[in-house]
Amino acid sequence: MATPVCDGRTLVAEEALQQGWSPVHDLLWVQSMTTYPERVIATSVLVIGTGGSGLRSAIELAERGKDVLAVGKRPKADAHTALAAGGINAALASVDAEDTWQQHAADTLQESYLLANPRTVQIVTQGAARAIGELERYGMPFARERDGRISQRFFGAHTFRRTAFAGDYTGLEIQRTLVDRAARLKIPILDTVYVTRLLVRDNVAFGAYGFDLADGTRYVIHADAVILAAGGHTRIWRHTSSRRDENTGDSLRLAVEAGGRVRDPELVQFHPSGLIEPENAAGTLVSEAARGEGGILLNGLGERFMARYDPERLELSTRDRVALAVYTEIAEGRGTPNGGVWLDVSHLPRETIMERLPGVYQTLLELQMLDITTTHIEVAPTAHYSMGGVWTDPEDYGTGIEGLYAIGEASSGLHGANRLGGNSLIELLVGGRIVGEAAAAYSAQLKAQERSATALVAARAQVDELLSANGPENVRALQRALRDTMTEHAGVVRDESGLASGLARLDEIERRMVDLGVHPDAAGFQSLAHAFDLKSAAVAARATLEAARERRETRGCHNRSDFPELDPSLQVNLVWSGPGSLVREQIPAIPDEIAALMHEVSSAGKLIE
Ligand SMILES: Cc1cc2nc3c(=O)[nH]c(=O)nc-3n(C[C@H](O)[C@H](O)[C@H](O)COP(=O)(O)OP(=O)(O)OC[C@H]3O[C@@H](n4cnc5c(N)ncnc54)[C@H](O)[C@@H]3O)c2cc1C
Repeated sequence: MATPVCDGRTLVAEEALQQGWSPVHDLLWVQSMTTYPERVIATSVLVIGTGGSGLRSAIELAERGKDVLAVGKRPKADAHTALAAGGINAALASVDAEDTWQQHAADTLQESYLLANPRTVQIVTQGAARAIGELERYGMPFARERDGRISQRFFGAHTFRRTAFAGDYTGLEIQRTLVDRAARLKIPILDTVYVTRLLVRDNVAFGAYGFDLADGTRYVIHADAVILAAGGHTRIWRHTSSRRDENTGDSLRLAVEAGGRVRDPELVQFHPSGLIEPENAAGTLVSEAARGEGGILLNGLGERFMARYDPERLELSTRDRVALAVYTEIAEGRGTPNGGVWLDVSHLPRETIMERLPGVYQTLLELQMLDITTTHIEVAPTAHYSMGGVWTDPEDYGTGIEGLYAIGEASSGLHGANRLGGNSLIELLVGGRIVGEAAAAYSAQLKAQERSATALVAARAQVDELLSANGPENVRALQRALRDTMTEHAGVVRDESGLASGLARLDEIERRMVDLGVHPDAAGFQSLAHAFDLKSAAVAARATLEAARERRETRGCHNRSDFPELDPSLQVNLVWSGPGSLVREQIPAIPDEIAALMHEVSSAGKLIE
């Protein structure tokens, strides 16, 4: 760890506690200007987020003998990654011997509508087999063939069977495996620390500030390097497959407030079938396997409407096209009474449902007491995955701020305008290793880490200000208003006037945010967390609306009804660095070797998630 310097001052500790949390150094308590105690920690690398990408980065650092501390705002065993079902991609060629990383790269670029960064794609697909091997070494229970080879199946628009899996709970097993590995390496993990601000001095990251969700204790975490692995921004829509209070756009706000940039925030994948009810589970996915197994989609008039949109493939069309079709039926008044469409599997043999769709059967029973063997399911498109994210360099996932890296759903570059199913989980692992390696090297070469008292004061003041907010505006109500705004103006289909109205409504929400009421109580500091979630959501919403307005074309997940064609001049990434600041970034050329392998791939018969 580098020698700490704090603007020439020595931090004064009123009470020093030795908690023996090796390898984290210098654990101190200081009394802040406020009534809340402030705990000061120093480590070599701070990882923000304990989902798959955060844990994999932390493991890499620990395996390299580096001090690392990981923090998250929800329990590590239950991070968003645990929800992933279908599988993880790597050209292992364990089932289809012809598969190669080059073909995986070609499929990824093809599906991205040419907005993915070819270098990011190459690094992830080339490193995928090694990442699976590492996961095996950590004890991941992959499904296997009788002779011991890892099983691989089709998933969406892949040329070959390259999706490895563990039942229909792949993400849960990956998360368990990584949590277990982190425990063996004795990586310190704080599960209740909400990071409110990154600490930066002259474009160099030196730590982060936050608070404890249970008792409000403030945290000043000094570090040589910081890895941002805090997820995406899909919870800023009303229906989302994300966990409650996660994916609120924290990564985007933290990066932008630190001087970083966001790439393609408008590119958000909507999954065609999310539940509408109950309200507290709105957006929960109904697996695409339901369509893959023969489920059909009906509108409120009982018509099998996919015949109008993709007469050949019908319900087996691609995810973006089915989402658009469902959206159009609802928008044009042919939806169900609750604003959805029907997904029907009741014509399938009961045994098929019980054997092939047990998860869907169980979910509907638990959430709605609905028996899918006899009754239709009411579904609507749901915000599922942030394909854009914090601007990152393909080589090391650096953000342009020295010592700050971003990884996982927080990052950008791999997916372009449509994510190939199964590619997210592999990026967590490949990128986690790369970013761990890069942060370790950066920390090792650092001679001294200059801190900034001004940055710390600003971070402290931001929390103080919200904690003392005693206005009439209810945080939950404003979160709801923001989600409604995004759903109505920046959902599956967008247009110029709708996006302009969305921005006007966001202006109004931000005006009301000045009069928030924040009231921590005996149960904890959730109310403060929700207020920060709202701040992040507002930043993410503005970035999304402004970039969606700038992208005057239809490409992949981004549908502009007023610009229905793809515009070759917009084969660029849109990079946002704050309100009104948007620039176009050219995308490097695809290497000939990969371009030669690109072709349209049908997803018929390949829907598993
Ligand atoms: C239902 C579902 C099914 C999916 N299936 C697949 C699949 O089959 N294959 C595939 O490849 N992908 C799948 N995905 C996508 C994939 O699961 C996610 O993209 C991936 O798990 C994201 O991992 P992550 O580490 O980037 O972030 P997350 O797992 O979202 O973790 C983010 C972490 O950051 C922490 N955090 C956030 N903000 C803060 C803050 N301010 N302070 C402190 N901590 C913070 C959170 O607590 C959490 O620990 C699926 C997603 C869903 C929702």
